[in-house]
Amino acid sequence: MNRKRLNEIIAKVNAILDALRELQGAELSLPIDPSEIARARGLKIEKVERFPSGREIDPSVSTDVRTQGFLRGDTVFVSRDQSPGAARFTVAHELAHRLLHPEPLHHREYAIGRHGSQPQEVEADFFASRLLMPEPLVRSEFGARFGRGLDLTIPSDDLAYDLTMGTRRKVTASQLARMPQLDRAILIARTAFFAGAYFTPICDVFGVSAEAMARRLLELGLVS
Ligand SMILES: [Zn+2]
Repeated sequence: MNRKRLNEIIAKVNAILDALRELQGAELSLPIDPSEIARARGLKIEKVERFPSGREIDPSVSTDVRTQGFLRGDTVFVSRDQSPGAARFTVAHELAHRLLHPEPLHHREYAIGRHGSQPQEVEADFFASRLLMPEPLVRSEFGARFGRGLDLTIPSDDLAYDLTMGTRRKVTASQLARMPQLDRAILIARTAFFAGAYFTPICDVFGVSAEAMARRLLELGLVS
């Protein structure tokens, strides 16, 4: 995505958030509801029990994929077969296609981060991520829990203890050290405990999956 396109998308997201702020008063209330925004723009949201997986359609496919939602005309179809956080991201992603990609495409959607690099999918995820997790709000919610940015590249026993308490999953400092960066960020996104305090996990505040939250924290350089 070039700089010009990036700025176009950011401007669209900011216009939506500004309109929402006017509607709600000074502060945006979290989590941001993408369905409400989509409906205000004339889209219908239809929940379906579940879409058939790739393998159910064609048993010869080697890697099974599951569709989470798609856009047809004015209707966003969303599968119930996903967590509430993932479903919100799917709606925001389809709204992005509607606003950014005027071609009457039939989009089939997979889990975040598994699209490969098709430009329209990257753009739609970029839009959805910024719509549901606006930078100033992420910075302030993160700051309230973790202080300034967290450098997780030198894991400590203290950090391992906090993440064990906060995620209810035993993790040691040496496990942390060996983990991929995204997995460490996911623990931060999910933890309900840090430095002696309990709180609502940051991914729940924004109503997104821990993975979507983790990607945003990494992108903003709050976790490294
Ligand atoms: Zn898409």
